[in-house]
Amino acid sequence: MAEKQRQVLMQIVQKPGNNTCADCGDKDPEWASCNIGVFLCQECAGIHRSLGTDSRVKSARLDNWDAEQVEYMDGVGNEKAKQKYEYCVPVFYRRPKSNDYNFLKKEWILGKYQRLEFMESANQSAYSCQRKEGVLMKLGRDRRIFQLRKFVIDRSENRLSYYIIEDSGKTSSKPKAEINLDEVNAVFVPEKIGNPYGLQITYYKNGSTRCLYVYSDNSKEIVDWYNAIRAAKLERRQVAFPDRPLAKLTDDLTRDFTLEGWLCKMGPRHEPFKRRWFTLDKRKLSYFEDPLNAFAKGEVFIGHKDNGYSVSFGPPEDESNCGENCFQLHTPDRDFVMRAEIKDEMDQWVEKLKQVVEMPLSPQDSKCKLLTDCSY
Ligand SMILES: [Zn+2]
Repeated sequence: MAEKQRQVLMQIVQKPGNNTCADCGDKDPEWASCNIGVFLCQECAGIHRSLGTDSRVKSARLDNWDAEQVEYMDGVGNEKAKQKYEYCVPVFYRRPKSNDYNFLKKEWILGKYQRLEFMESANQSAYSCQRKEGVLMKLGRDRRIFQLRKFVIDRSENRLSYYIIEDSGKTSSKPKAEINLDEVNAVFVPEKIGNPYGLQITYYKNGSTRCLYVYSDNSKEIVDWYNAIRAAKLERRQVAFPDRPLAKLTDDLTRDFTLEGWLCKMGPRHEPFKRRWFTLDKRKLSYFEDPLNAFAKGEVFIGHKDNGYSVSFGPPEDESNCGENCFQLHTPDRDFVMRAEIKDEMDQWVEKLKQVVEMPLSPQDSKCKLLTDCSY
């Protein structure tokens, strides 16, 4: 009897909508929440377990299912559950994909089924607010330690600011920095910061990219801040470009880095290689002495291949002692010679850089070039 039910369930899980994880979209889910009525991947099923009685997790393949439960799964399923639990997901909200960090999936799942954030917009005040205030740990520019700072997003001023909190616990009255939200990008960088909920916030300052490194001990806090930045940026764009389709406006509200890692870089006059931390952010390649530096040592705009930008394997012809795994980025101004530690890393960098030079230029890219040229 149990075998019969399992077979029926296996057919249900293959139906469109059920054949991907209800929460992250991963293929071929093998788990289910038998009271919510959704099919899940293993990772999301693990998060569902933390919901306690709100979600009862079972293996679709290994556990026993009775006829009533199977019928319930057939009656609900991922599509119907989505209509209910994702009734009003804000367009700016970052929905986790299968390759995203676990804490993004966790906050999505808790927000969706426990806090019911996407059934009722009144439950979205942590990020859909005109003004957001809170504290985050921020890495000091020179002191190399993380300190408590008060952060404020003020949509009416289009500004993100942060304030020093003195030892007495008093917040300084003047902000330490006031940042134009249009220029802000936010990227989760837990490994780099050494905290599971580490976030890098970047913006342009005097022609260079300024990097702030922050974290919260609470995953909900950091995800809320992240989505609050996206929300504020979207609202601003909607006012500035009322005729543009929403899907276009949500492009790049925040942008993950394409690639990051250590490489060795040859000096401009062929001085010996120096180890640098490289970040590829769309068309901007930055290199840092230390991954957590406030400013890059150099920033390079990477244009289109028709404008003299290209990537090649190997060292320059007149350099024979470069070692293995060298590659070059050629720009109209200069050739950058880099060396990776292992071949796989070199291949990855070359592949990603090649994709950039082949990517058509957008109007935003021209702005990036202008700003990067100033700093370089
Ligand atoms: Zn999943």
